[in-house]
Parts: sequence; C-alpha cells; structure tokens
Amino acid sequence: MSPTTLPAAYDSLLAHSRQRKFLEGTAAILSWDQETMMPPGGVEFRGDQLAQLAALGHRMTVEPQVGEWLDRADQAMAGRLPEDAPERVNLREWRRDREKAMKLPESLVEELAKVTSVAQHEWAEARRHSDFARFRPWLEKILELNRRKAECLGWNRAGGEPWDALADLYEKGMTATQVEAVFTPLERRLKDLVARIVGAPRRPGDRFDRLELPEAQQEAFVRFAARAIGFDFERGRLDRSTHPFCGGSHRGDVRITTRFKPSLALDALGSTMHECGHAIYEQGLPAEHLGTPMGEATSLAVHESQSRLWENQVGRSREFWQWMTPRLREFFGAAVDGIDAEEMHGCANRVSPGFIRVEADEATYNLHVMIRFDLERRMLRGDLAVADLPAAWNARYQNLLGVTVPDDRRGCLQDVHWSMGAMGYFPTYTLGNLIAAGLFEAVKRDLPEVPAMFARGEFAPLREWLHAKVHAHGRRHDAATLHRLVTGREVSADPLLRYLEGKLLPLHGL
Ligand code: ZN
Repeated sequence: MSPTTLPAAYDSLLAHSRQRKFLEGTAAILSWDQETMMPPGGVEFRGDQLAQLAALGHRMTVEPQVGEWLDRADQAMAGRLPEDAPERVNLREWRRDREKAMKLPESLVEELAKVTSVAQHEWAEARRHSDFARFRPWLEKILELNRRKAECLGWNRAGGEPWDALADLYEKGMTATQVEAVFTPLERRLKDLVARIVGAPRRPGDRFDRLELPEAQQEAFVRFAARAIGFDFERGRLDRSTHPFCGGSHRGDVRITTRFKPSLALDALGSTMHECGHAIYEQGLPAEHLGTPMGEATSLAVHESQSRLWENQVGRSREFWQWMTPRLREFFGAAVDGIDAEEMHGCANRVSPGFIRVEADEATYNLHVMIRFDLERRMLRGDLAVADLPAAWNARYQNLLGVTVPDDRRGCLQDVHWSMGAMGYFPTYTLGNLIAAGLFEAVKRDLPEVPAMFARGEFAPLREWLHAKVHAHGRRHDAATLHRLVTGREVSADPLLRYLEGKLLPLHGL
C-alpha cells in the first residue's frame, strides 16, 4: 500500500487531526500569554476561553464519525503496512487518545476543571500563608475525583492499583509496581551517595553563584548558551516567567521561558538549558507529520530526558565549562576575573540536601520525587489520610534527606501539581533522568568523541544523534521501547548512578 492509495477514511482522520491541532496550538499560545504577558485583569476571561477550547477539542475527539473512520481505515490498512509505518502509528495513537477521552464522562471532566481552578487559587493562598488546613478540603476533593477518574479509566485488577490508571495518562503503560522496582534500588544508593558527599573532605566553591550579576548580563549569557546548543530563534522565543516552561503552538513556534535572580546566574543558565532541551525536541519533530501523532512528542518522561540531558549531562560537564568559562568575561566583565573552568565545574555540581524540589541538585532531586510518589500512591489507596499528609511528608524528608522541614510552605504545599489534579505525574521526572543517563551512555558508545566536542562548543553532533534516535520518531515508540531500541537495555537506575558517582565523588575528594 503506497501513501497515494490510502483509504479515504484515513484522509478524513488526517484532516480531523490537523483541525484539532489548530485548537490545541491556539490554546497553547493563550496559555503562554497568560504566564508571560497577560495583565491580571485577563484571568477570568482567559480561563473561560481555555475551557471552551478544551471542550471543543474533547467533542471533536469523541465524535461517532471518528470511530467509524478508525474502523474503516484499520480494516483497509492492517496487514498491508508494517505496524511501525507512520500511518499505522497514527491510527493506533488516534484510537488510544479517543478511547481515553471516551472513558471519562463529560460531567467528571467538568467537575475536575471547576474544582481544580478554585483549588489552584486556594493552594496558592495556603502556600503563601503556610496554611495546610486551608488547602486540605480541596486536596480531599481532588483525591476523591481522581479515584473516580481511575475507576472510569480502569486498571489491572490483578496486582494493579488506582495510581496506574492515572499515571497511564502521562506515561503510557507506567505502573506503580514498575516504578517501585526502579525506585527502590535508586533510593538506597542515592541516599548512600548523598550521605558520603555531605560528609566529604572537600566541597566545591560557590563563588560564581554568590556574585550579584545584573539581569541584562544574565540574559545575554543565557541567550548565548541557548543559541550555541541549538535552540532555533527563528522558530522560537525566549521570555520570562515565574516558573520556567516550554510551550508554543507547533514546531515552527516554540516558546520557552526562564527566570533571573540577582545572584545565582547558574539557576538562570540551568533553567534555560533545561527548557531548550524540551524546545529542541519540539523543534525537531518531523515537519511532514505536523498535526498527527507521528509529529508529536512521545511522552513526558522522554520529554524530560531531553531537557535533563542538555541541562545536566551537557551543562554540568567539565568540557562545557572548559568552553564556557573563558567567555564569561564577555558577559560579566571583571566580576568573574580569576574564576577558572575547574571552579565553574565544581560550582555547577554542588550538592546540598534541602526542602525544595525545584531547587534540588542532581544527587538529591530524585529523592524529592520518590517522596511524592510514595505519598500520593498511599493517599489514592486510602492508606494515608490527607489530614496526615504534612506529618508523613516531614517524616520522609527527615529520613531520606536528613532535613527538618520548617513549615508546610516549604513542605507539602510547595508543588502546584496536586492542586491542578495531577496525580501519577511526579515519577515522569525521575524516569526522564534515568532515560537521559541511558541515552548519554548510548551516544558515548556510538560517538565517543561527543563529550570532548563540548569543550570546543560543538553541540550539533549530539543534537543530530538525538534527532535521529528520538525526535524524528514522534509517537512511534513509547518511552520503554524507545529506550530499549536506542540503548539495548531496559530503563534502570544503573546509568544514572554510574554518571552521578563518576562525576560527584571525585569533585568531593572521594
Ligand atoms: Zn522539564
């Protein structure tokens, strides 16, 4: 079967999918605007606009006609095209998206949207005043709605649990049992690594991070880095927001944001390189499949692997700083005199257990994620009451990170996710870190000279390898399959631990 003889039903699906992409892309630009440009007076109307667009998209997805087209196209194409042909991949993913959408009754979707829009506001206020009691009834409602959502979506009754149904929305096939199997050894070895580093004889200096550097200089610096690693400013923008993110409507218009603090220029650099990693994935999705699943990113974990790889494996490498350090003077003048590449490499890799996930270093970050996974899983199962969440949270921080959480603002109220209704989401961050480490070992096997190229500011070979192995495939493979195909191995804790131990122990004189 050649593309010229595709059944008419497939052409109808194609046109329908592109129309939905127009709606989604429009909503994405409105969301970006809301976070970056919109005056406060726009909040309510913008919420209505986004809700209307989401409802239109949902209605289009569940139209009965789409089901008929899918059946007819499947009949015509099954057996005549290989399973991984773009057209078969699109059919598979269109069906999956539609089945998910049809399982959720509109009344539940609406109630979740309504509850979470108020809950996000209540959460923000509760966090500001460190007042868990204010957020508690909202979290209880969200938990109840998520349990109902899990019931509608369904999970494996033999050995599965409600968490699995919710997680599958973010990461195809991810289950709590699988996550636990990877997290258990990772937790033990990370806890041990952090303890060794905390008690180490040597600590890298933080001189650069303590310099007060004007925002304009920091911005020129991060824009230079973004351009150097391959963010395409002809097909993207870099703006500011409180919480950095990557958005935009499609591969030709990718919007990233970063943030600037008076000191901590490395925070701005890390955030920028992180979002650039997401953006390079989006900009690298195949143009010929725009508006179809083959032109979309495959999963949150794979997305996070791209951002983490550029932020950490590249941006915190010795070779990157060998290239970047001599250029610091162009941006920051005499303030950076006397700082060499070794010092910058150390400064970018300081480890310090803390309370806040988004400020965590590479060694402790995943421990923050594990705590959230464990607690939300127990809440969903009914083993942990919302009222007991703060105490359970604080106990886990004491045990895993050795820190005493001072208040709920810096404890269980710090993340926005649960207030948005997102449960089953957090592990995608750690899976992203594991996949990044797996991919980085694979690229060093395929192209051993890649890290040395960073020292010359040559990032294209890495970017092109990632494009060929990951970006060009759209949603052809799920995260686990993609990792297996590229690395020859299953996702595990080992590559990340090898990478962290190999880098951090010598830096701390161990
Ligand atoms: Zn990210």
